[in-house]
Amino acid sequence: MNSLLGEINRRDFLKYTAITAAALGLSQTEVATKLGEAIAATSSDKPPVIWLEGQDCAGCTISFTGNLFPPAASIILDKLSIRYHETIMAAAGHLSENTLEKTIKKGGYVLVVEGSIPTADGRFCMIGGRPFEEILKECAANAAAIIAVGACATYGGIPAAGPTGAKGVRDVIKGKPIINLSTCPVHPDHLVGTIVYYLVTKKVPPLDHEGRPLMYYRELIHDTCRRRGYFEAGKLLQDWNDPEQKNWCLIDKGCKGPETYSDCAIRRWNDGVNFCIDCGAGCRGCAEPAFYKGMSPLYSDKSGLAGELKEKAKRREIKRKQVGKEVK
Ligand code: SF4
Repeated sequence: MNSLLGEINRRDFLKYTAITAAALGLSQTEVATKLGEAIAATSSDKPPVIWLEGQDCAGCTISFTGNLFPPAASIILDKLSIRYHETIMAAAGHLSENTLEKTIKKGGYVLVVEGSIPTADGRFCMIGGRPFEEILKECAANAAAIIAVGACATYGGIPAAGPTGAKGVRDVIKGKPIINLSTCPVHPDHLVGTIVYYLVTKKVPPLDHEGRPLMYYRELIHDTCRRRGYFEAGKLLQDWNDPEQKNWCLIDKGCKGPETYSDCAIRRWNDGVNFCIDCGAGCRGCAEPAFYKGMSPLYSDKSGLAGELKEKAKRREIKRKQVGKEVK
């Protein structure tokens, strides 16, 4: 296993094969064998990757490369050939642009896109004197797979609340399957797992109606949140300074967990250490197309969602009590 996967340790390897195995309905051993074959077949010619950055903060790059235990970095550095990445590539100027040109001509690469695409009139996000939209279209034309990472590249994100006419990749590139890995920033597991899936199957994983892999975005955060019990019991945090309310449900503080699909509550972040809700911040809905504009204000419930959900919970509670009486 080590000879095939270089620096990836056993624990990390098992983590990714488990995710992919579950998604494919195969055993972990079968996935490990297929992945080994895929990597062995490409060992002399590692799968090429072009990583573009449009209107972004490089947060997805940081999230991905900053993963403490090495899967992301190992896979990226040892097993893939990153031909172009503005933040991490060593080359610059004509050298890097020539490499990009050659890679596009050859085709068959994985295109990762970070950041939104400005479509409004004006010279927003010009790279080397060319609009980002033009560069993206050129790169997308010969790509074997397109992965949009982060809220900006998937659906426009925070820039979509501004004046640049920011759009996600799916609104600009038509006729090609696009895998959307939303959340702000992208979760490293989601990206590595998707790449592993693609290397094993040469196929796009099953996606939901927003183009997100079902293996990561099947459930509402609200349904897997550890504060859910407090929600059902009507214990809704009102005062962050009150120690008694420390773990209560954050819906009255604008939590968007009930309308956001992602596995954050189970997978957690920073190598499984924590995530927004457990830090007491509430979910910001960053995995959803409506983020940011449609999810603001972030720290209060202006949409009436809380009221609606509380009513539902109340009705559920009444029903439960009625059933209890009938049983007695
Ligand atoms: Fe958790 Fe937010 Fe749902 Fe409350 S509203 S249970 S904090 S996801």
